[in-house]
Amino acid sequence: MNKKYKVLLASSLIAVFIWACQRVPLTNRKQFVGLVSGEQMMSLSFQQYKGFLDTVKQVPASKADAQMVARVGERIKKAAENYLIQQNLGSLLDGYQWEFRTVESKELNAWCMPGGKVVFYTGILPICQSEAGVAVVMGHEVAHAIAEHGRERMSRAMMAQGITQIGAVAAGVATGDQRVMEAAGQVLGIGTTLGGVLPNSRKQEAEADKIGLIFMSMAGYNPQEAVTFWQRMA
Ligand SMILES: [Zn+2]
Repeated sequence: MNKKYKVLLASSLIAVFIWACQRVPLTNRKQFVGLVSGEQMMSLSFQQYKGFLDTVKQVPASKADAQMVARVGERIKKAAENYLIQQNLGSLLDGYQWEFRTVESKELNAWCMPGGKVVFYTGILPICQSEAGVAVVMGHEVAHAIAEHGRERMSRAMMAQGITQIGAVAAGVATGDQRVMEAAGQVLGIGTTLGGVLPNSRKQEAEADKIGLIFMSMAGYNPQEAVTFWQRMA
């Protein structure tokens, strides 16, 4: 490769990178998300979520625990929506299909997939102890979705697989491209859990904590609950 071509290639890669970056609401951190659209991310997420629900036992919506999770979810959702609308960022929620479910499982886990699919495992409820404790976890998980952490990780995973074309996810899903499916599995896999400790996700965890605290206080919960919750969790 001659030098001129290298320079051209490098500058066009930089151009793609800049184009593909956006700012996270509330923290203003610059993030690279451009290799997959928010819409594609949601559609992958909804498929995974449906598959997940087929394999688990849900707590019926009539039970107190499931009602509490749904109630907290609605309040946090409302707070996030209000905030984003005030900031002229309401379009970030286009395509969201919020759901708040509780499933029977001993695991200490909860997550919110891109597009607003929230699941709490019964195992984490004793650690939450109260509605405010549920709000700590809910705020954190909803923050991951609003900050588009899944999309950011998907873009990075694609890059790591050597996929750099914008629109490659749509094509890859259509053709069953193994590299795209693997990237999706890594990012959306149900194993991506509360307080995940993947080496490159610490920044995202700290960000979700910060945004989550803001959402929970906007929803009328005492953010101090977070301190004792994370102590119990540890
Ligand atoms: Zn987290």
